[in-house]
Order: sequence, then C-alpha cells, then structure tokens
Amino acid sequence: MKSAEIVQRFCMDLAEVTCPTCFEVFEVAVPHPDEMPAEVDYDCEVCCRPMMIVFTEDEVYAKGLGD
Ligand SMILES: [Zn+2]
Repeated sequence: MKSAEIVQRFCMDLAEVTCPTCFEVFEVAVPHPDEMPAEVDYDCEVCCRPMMIVFTEDEVYAKGLGD
C-alpha cells in the first residue's frame, strides 16, 4: 500500500487526461473545488505539445490549442 494515504495528506486529487496530440494518458493535479470550473494551460508530459485542460465538477478533459 503506498499512495492513497499520501494523496489524502496533501489534499490533492489527481485526474487522468488523454493528450489530444499523442493520445497518451497522464495524471494532472486537480484544482481546488472552489476554483471550478477551470481551464489550465499544460504541456503534455509525453510529447510536450501544449494543450488546454478543462476541469469541471464532474469531468476533466484535454483539448488541443490548434483546433
Ligand atoms: Zn502528448
């Protein structure tokens, strides 16, 4: 057993998003609920392409900047 306890202690939720460019899945930190909905600029951890990650109260998804 490793991460669950640590995640709670840091009060940080992670969400999985799929890169719109390379379709790899990676984890991002979810903003505080008070800041929802939020849009965050992010560079893919795999292919380093920029994207916009959209956080709402019930979903998280990434969209490419070029579309
Ligand atoms: Zn990517």
